[in-house]
Amino acid sequence: MAENYQVLPGYKRFNQKNNAIMRSSWDAKLGSYDPRNVRAIKEHIHRGDPGFDHLDFALSNGATTVASSLGTAINRPNSGVTSWESLAKQWGRSFPIEADRLEAGDPDRMRKALGKVARFYGADLVGFTPLDERWVYSHHYDPRTAENPPVEIPAGCNQVIVMGVSMDHGMFATAPTAVMMAETQRNYSVLASLAGSVAEFIRTLGYQALPCMNDTALSVPLAVDAGLGQPSRLGPVVTPEFGPRVRFCKVITDLPLNARKKSADFGLIEFCEACEKCAEACPAKSLPFGPRTAEPKNISNNPGVLKWYGNYESCRLYWSHVGTNCGICLRVCPFNHGRGFHHRIAKRLVRLKWRWVNRLLVKLHGWLGYGKQKDPRFFWNGG
Ligand code: SF4
Ligand code: SF4
Repeated sequence: MAENYQVLPGYKRFNQKNNAIMRSSWDAKLGSYDPRNVRAIKEHIHRGDPGFDHLDFALSNGATTVASSLGTAINRPNSGVTSWESLAKQWGRSFPIEADRLEAGDPDRMRKALGKVARFYGADLVGFTPLDERWVYSHHYDPRTAENPPVEIPAGCNQVIVMGVSMDHGMFATAPTAVMMAETQRNYSVLASLAGSVAEFIRTLGYQALPCMNDTALSVPLAVDAGLGQPSRLGPVVTPEFGPRVRFCKVITDLPLNARKKSADFGLIEFCEACEKCAEACPAKSLPFGPRTAEPKNISNNPGVLKWYGNYESCRLYWSHVGTNCGICLRVCPFNHGRGFHHRIAKRLVRLKWRWVNRLLVKLHGWLGYGKQKDPRFFWNGG
């Protein structure tokens, strides 16, 4: 069995400042992102391009409201809804039992309870892992002030609840458009609300809870350690349920959960070795062909882990020319499928890890026309 990842000696924690999104605010190489993006959006609207008109961009802007307002931000720690302190206290909402610590009792029961709570608040996937400090950013980065302080996790917070929220198959099939971007933004708003609500639940039991979206720690290896999916050629975690069409948030806590690392294996590594569809389809040539390596493409990769490294500089630059995020790689991935009996059969075949079967499935995926772009006007017109 191929390991999901291998960490090589000399690995160092990643500084959030070097992530391609943060670099747009300080690195001249990516720095003209915003003006180019604004120009692209205006040109699309002026031409009335399907999937990029005023209505579509308004849909996306509305969808990001919870994730990007009142201090909350996708990449900013400890702020707004994802504050590390009690929101109830901050907003003058008192609750009579929050000062009393609940005797946590059986951690297995508590994990089960948290699974229920997370699903109630909007999670489609829930997993648990001990906090592997290698995945915690070495430093936060605030693009508004250029501050780059070290990340300090409060003592005792060594358990992580990792939660995934899936994205709509039809909207993602339009990628890249503002309709697809709206679904991404809606997803982040659900993640913000979900992480904040789970953290508030835990604090009401008398324990510490740090809700995080893309800030504080790397979501991909945490989701892999929680057994929710496998790392892929295209970068994000691919899950058996939703393929790559899922995003993650996490809550780091000192609530005793007795979490243990799990390693999902549904044949993805072997399938990616035979597939390469995402790399072929990427318009920016950002995704690698061939086997996994430990060699980074540029400073936006963290070296020292055996995996597929994408070039997130060229990816991000492509986004600024399109005017939205892209998502073509997710759209074409054979694991990004709808529901259906034949997909279940295909998944069983992938588990066999037979190279010729994987190659045949990749070909079938193309012959049957999966992964093609859908007309984005379906969102407004139905169908
Ligand atoms: S999002 Fe688009 S540009 Fe970026 S890696 Fe995927 S296909 Fe390539
Ligand atoms: S498109 Fe193929 S190679 Fe790329 S992540 Fe999906 S299965 Fe792996």
